[in-house]
Amino acid sequence: MAARKAIFIYSPELEKYHYPPEHPFNTVRAKKARETINSMGLLSRSNVREVPPVPADRIVLKKFHSARYLHALKSTSQGRWDAEALEMGIGTQDCPVFPGLYEYAVLAVGGTLVAAKQILAGDAEIAFNPSGGFHHAGPERASGFCYINDVALACMVLAERVKRVLYLDVDVHHGDGVAYAFYDRSDVMTISFHQDPRTLFPGTGFADEIGTGQGKGYCVNVPLPVGTYDQVYLKAFEAIALPLIKAYNPGVFVFELGADALAGDPLAHLQLTNNVYAEIVHHLLAFNKPVVATGGGGYNVDNTVRAWALAWSIFCGADAGQQMGQAIGGVLLESTEWQGGLRDRALAVSESQLETVVPAVEATIETIKSTVFPIHGL
Ligand SMILES: [Zn+2]
Repeated sequence: MAARKAIFIYSPELEKYHYPPEHPFNTVRAKKARETINSMGLLSRSNVREVPPVPADRIVLKKFHSARYLHALKSTSQGRWDAEALEMGIGTQDCPVFPGLYEYAVLAVGGTLVAAKQILAGDAEIAFNPSGGFHHAGPERASGFCYINDVALACMVLAERVKRVLYLDVDVHHGDGVAYAFYDRSDVMTISFHQDPRTLFPGTGFADEIGTGQGKGYCVNVPLPVGTYDQVYLKAFEAIALPLIKAYNPGVFVFELGADALAGDPLAHLQLTNNVYAEIVHHLLAFNKPVVATGGGGYNVDNTVRAWALAWSIFCGADAGQQMGQAIGGVLLESTEWQGGLRDRALAVSESQLETVVPAVEATIETIKSTVFPIHGL
C-alpha cells in the first residue's frame, strides 16, 4: 500500500507564546518534536507536507464555547481580568493568564481545525497537530491547562460531514471535555483510557459513565490503576477499543495523543513505554480511515517529544508494521541522551504491579463488556 498523505501542523509563530515558566505545560514540545522528525528526514518524504496553523474562526469556536466565555478569554488576554473570568476558570493556577494567551489558544486550536479541514477536503489522510489536544476545556470553562477545546471542535466539524466520528483519548487524564460534549450523541463515540479518577485529575471517567439517551453506550471510559504497564494496557485496548471500533465502523478518527501516561511523567502514575503508543497507532492505521491526531499532556518533555516523533514516524509510513517485541529500542526513559532510536527500553514489571494492576483491569474489562458491548451487538 502506498504511504498515506500525511500533514504535520506546525509554524514558528507558535514559539512566540509560553505559559508562565513555573507551569508544567511546555509549548516547546511541538518545536522539539518537529526538530527530531526533521533531523530524521521525516518531513521531507514525498507523501508528507508541513502545514501552518491558522487562527480559528470565532464562528467555529462558538460551535462549542459560549460567546460570554470567548469574550472573557479575549478580554483577559488583553489585560482586563475580572471575577467573572475567574469564575469560568480563567486565571487560576492551572489555567493562568499569560501574554498572548488568546492568540496562542486560537492558533494552536486552529491547527487542529486546519487538520480536520484538510481531511474533509481529501488533501490529507493523516494530520498531526502536536500543539493541540486541549481535552479538558468546557463550553464555559477553562480547566486542566486547557482554554479552548480543539478536539471537541474537530469532532463537531467532522460530524457535520462524516458519519460516525471516533474520538480516542490516550492521555493519562480523562478526556472529560470531549466525553461530556457528546454524552447524549451517537454520531461521535468517545473512548478514553486514563488513570483511575480516584487518584488523578479531573476525578471523572469511571467505567459506569457510558453516555445517556441516544448516546448510551457511545461513551467509553477505561480507568486504569496506578502502575499500569504496557502489556496490561494493550490487553485492555485490544479487549475493549478494538471490538468497539470495529462494530462502530467510524468514518474518521480524532486521536488525542497525550504522552503523560508514560513512566516518568511528573504529574501521573502509569508505567507505560512509548511502544504502547506505537502499537495503538498501528492498530488505528489498520482501520484505513483518516486520522486527525493531536498532542495533549506530557510533562516529561524528552519522553513526550520522543513519543510524538515515534508516532509521526508511523503516521508517515517510515515505521511500517514493526511490532512490539521486535522493535523495542534502547532508549532509557529518563535519559536525555537521544541516540538514534525513538523507542523506549522495555520496563521490568514488579510483583506488586502484577498483583494490583491485573485484577483491577480485568474487572474493568468485564464491566465494560457487560454494559457497553451489548448495545453494539457484541
Ligand atoms: Zn493529561
